[in-house]
Amino acid sequence: MDELNVPYDGPVTNVSHYYPFVTREHAVDDNKLSIYKKILSTKEQVHRNAIIYIHIPYCRSICTYCHCYKIFLPQNKDVKGILDSYIANIFKEADLYGQMEYIGNLDFKYIHIGGGTPSLMTSEQIERLITKVKKKLNINYTIPINFEGEVRTLNDKNKINVLKELGTSRISFGVQSFNECVRKLCNLQPTYEDILNLIETLRARHCSVNIDLLYGLPHQTMEVLESDLYKAIELKIDSIDYYRVNIYPHIRLFLKYRHTHPEILDERHKYLMYKKIINTLTNNGYIQKSDELFNLKDAPYSAIKEAINHSGNEMFDVLPLGASSNGLINNVSIKNAPVSSYVDKLHGQGFPIIRLYKFSDDDIYTHMALRGLTRSLRLSKKNVYYNDFLKKYRNVLATLKEYKLIQETKDEIKLTKKGILWHQNIQLDFLTTEQKRAMKKMSNDKQLYDKILTNGEN
Ligand code: SF4
Repeated sequence: MDELNVPYDGPVTNVSHYYPFVTREHAVDDNKLSIYKKILSTKEQVHRNAIIYIHIPYCRSICTYCHCYKIFLPQNKDVKGILDSYIANIFKEADLYGQMEYIGNLDFKYIHIGGGTPSLMTSEQIERLITKVKKKLNINYTIPINFEGEVRTLNDKNKINVLKELGTSRISFGVQSFNECVRKLCNLQPTYEDILNLIETLRARHCSVNIDLLYGLPHQTMEVLESDLYKAIELKIDSIDYYRVNIYPHIRLFLKYRHTHPEILDERHKYLMYKKIINTLTNNGYIQKSDELFNLKDAPYSAIKEAINHSGNEMFDVLPLGASSNGLINNVSIKNAPVSSYVDKLHGQGFPIIRLYKFSDDDIYTHMALRGLTRSLRLSKKNVYYNDFLKKYRNVLATLKEYKLIQETKDEIKLTKKGILWHQNIQLDFLTTEQKRAMKKMSNDKQLYDKILTNGEN
């Protein structure tokens, strides 16, 4: 079968999730901090496109597949009080950024609020957070907001009304699977009824319905996947982020189920699932907008995807606010401190960053490959770095073309249908040996990476 005529031994897991690989080696010291402050103080009128990412890290229960940064809040904790003081610290951080010349010249396109569980905030806290962050950053124009919620805490008419009034263009929430057994294994608390109730509340307020689904979960056979897909189609979900579960060695799913549910480690099974997802959704009116995003016509695009997937002609800046947020400012990748040291850093060193990594030109080209071509599925020839990108990856691109994994048009290069199925393997083709070694450290399948590393250097 042509689809299997590829230069790979077998499907691999998502590579770009962690790109750029910012590790402990990039820990911030006084020197790096002063470089960062210098960048932020530049008077140069840059006017880059940017988004603000605000991370709300608290969760009421922990899902077994989760590898996001989160803090568990047991029922007896005072959520409102904890969030009040957390939000106050975000204002302090926004205040620091608001005084910097570079930030004042950014062209903010969206605010994205993710987590954790942002819908744990009350409607008053949501309003305060958005209004004050905008004020501190001197944003006096309407800016669309994307908001991630959890099924039960999001189902509150006041919260949704406030979000709409503030200009929220996209509210999304995690479903992962409609199957009760899968949901139980993932420790997902809301029931199917809860999901239907939330959809009803959103539709009554003329909001589009945007959900996350996952494939590669325990007990998720092809039949279960198919029933998830047809349920989403039947419910006329406007937009679906369909993520492949990445089984990192530290997550609960791996630690708990690797022996009893070996299907979670079967990348070939996930490859076939991905193929089924693409075929079923595109045959039922959905448009594949990126590797993971499927929209019905007119559904709102995801701001965070537009920003980090390098889907246009340039990289967006991402201004990170809150504990453990990741950002990208003028080609400098940064990571904020976790909750345990976020406040101390904020009140001590100022910007609460703990890691900093300045992109080289090569990193920009790798970004174009990993976050652009293979995630947005296309790369515009208008991108200012396009010719340098071609020069750097001439051989890689020639092989991809030879195997019909990419094709070229007048305006862009893009993945073919076959290339989309293999996009995660293609990502590896753009990495150096050192970067592949970094991937190996994060993978649950060291043998596979040994094989990849022996098969060729880049
Ligand atoms: S609610 Fe979201 S952030 Fe919290 S544990 Fe579940 S998936 Fe992770």
